[in-house]
Amino acid sequence: MNYDCNKLADLLFPNVTGTVAELEEKYPDRGLKEGARVTRFAPSPTGYLHIGAFYTALVNILTADVSGGKAYLRIEDTDKKREIADGVSAIIDGFKDFGIEFSEGVTGFNSECGDYGPYTQSKRAEIYHIVAKQLVKDGLAYPCFCSSEELTELRAQQEKDGALITGYFGKYAKCRELTLEEIEKNLKDGKSYVLRFRSQGDEEKKIAFDDMIRGKIEMPENVIDEVLLKSDGIPTYHFAHICDDHFMRTTHVIRAEEWLSSVPKHIAIFKACGFKVPKYAHLSQVMKLDEDDGNKRKISKRKDPEAAVSYFFEAGFPRESILEYLFTLINSNFEDWRRANPKESVFAFPFNLKKMSPSGCLFDLVKLNDVSKNVISVMDADTVYKYIAEWAEKYDEEFFKVFTANPQRSRDMVNIDRESPKPRKDLAKWSEVKEYFAYMFEEYHTPAFDLPENIQKEDAKAILESYPEVYSDSDDKDVWFSKIKDLCEPLGFTPNVKEYKKNPELFKGHVGDVSTVIRLAVTGRKNTPDLCSIMKLLGKDTVKTRINAIVNSL
Ligand code: GLU
Repeated sequence: MNYDCNKLADLLFPNVTGTVAELEEKYPDRGLKEGARVTRFAPSPTGYLHIGAFYTALVNILTADVSGGKAYLRIEDTDKKREIADGVSAIIDGFKDFGIEFSEGVTGFNSECGDYGPYTQSKRAEIYHIVAKQLVKDGLAYPCFCSSEELTELRAQQEKDGALITGYFGKYAKCRELTLEEIEKNLKDGKSYVLRFRSQGDEEKKIAFDDMIRGKIEMPENVIDEVLLKSDGIPTYHFAHICDDHFMRTTHVIRAEEWLSSVPKHIAIFKACGFKVPKYAHLSQVMKLDEDDGNKRKISKRKDPEAAVSYFFEAGFPRESILEYLFTLINSNFEDWRRANPKESVFAFPFNLKKMSPSGCLFDLVKLNDVSKNVISVMDADTVYKYIAEWAEKYDEEFFKVFTANPQRSRDMVNIDRESPKPRKDLAKWSEVKEYFAYMFEEYHTPAFDLPENIQKEDAKAILESYPEVYSDSDDKDVWFSKIKDLCEPLGFTPNVKEYKKNPELFKGHVGDVSTVIRLAVTGRKNTPDLCSIMKLLGKDTVKTRINAIVNSL
């Protein structure tokens, strides 16, 4: 171009008086200690928090935390098509459900904190325009008046030419060579325009950069004259995030791998603006196995309810379980660390960005269930009680009333086989509690007695008739069990399982069969946590009523 770029800049941005130098001063270096990393989570306000996005956020938070740095939350709302009204609160609430609050950036609908704001892109127009004006002054950006029809033609032409690269570049970039007079005329005619980057890239040359997860990457230089400002003056993601990451003093850009291919473009724009290029880490996608074809695929908002983190909270997974599981995906040495540090918070884990896998990790609901069973099994009864009550209050009001009607009893119920060296690992989520402990509440208990195959009806009846006579609420576990043993011999069973195994033909069954009959009559289940504790909580009267009802039905 052979015109005065300053003139063009003033023509395009007559009202922009601020300078890049002023911005540099306004948003100074953070002065953090050597090695401290500044990261960001930068979602669009789509009104929900995707599990994969949360995973990305978590990695950003951990990267900052382990280095004594800072992670902040920025809202990228330049794409109005993706935005929904107050799409921010759902994101903030999603983090709150995990007990996470950002100490810098957007903190809620229309609220934020920190010295590097505003943290919402739609409030940063002035900054983008100052940088854009400087690029025009430097001859590195120009207005493009091409209509969408012209752009469609251009694509068709490129196809016809068999161009390997498609887009607005080189000889196809018509407006790149407009004279100042032509530009002035277009502006006078009121033609709308976008502001394009004047790429200096050479398609024959390669650019190399280090990705902290993927290592050294080489790609062809960017040649595309990317749009920086759309016709309404709103920046594109490419341009906005560059200005933001620079003036928010981001040291590490950690984001989804879908952005990897844009890195040459981003580096070129960073450099054109005179900004230091941040370090990059591109996270592989969180995938799932498709239920139909078994292939790995992205977790999709449209198809998969588990795409939104709210799904997991609604299902009643405690936040500790979801975090615990995500950490197993984040660093493969997490599980070893956990074994050595069973009681620590996950946030004490010495996370290492470089140990992340460059290939997609698989989000497996079955594994999450297993992890959650472990996590819940080591919680104390007070915590479990509190979590169940909180969950039920929000998602199952009727159960909330039943569960909290007698708090001590419910607490003792969830404490059965808990707070012991070998706790029971049954519950994976709070939504299972109602069904799991149904027999503990008259509201949910359905009497059922499926006679075990190896027991005759008369024998079951005989057991159930004799047992209430000896049962007492005040018996401790040993006495309780010895009473069941004592029932055995008179009824033709043996209290000794080994003896039974040696000579099964001599007995009707063993003590295990006798207690199964009692368990079935009292709870309707073959398997339950410790029956003695269950019976104590139910109380003698309920135990006897339930047993009598079964006897009468046999
Ligand atoms: N707003 C972008 C997105 O939602 C963020 C990409 C980035 O982290 O730079 O994908």
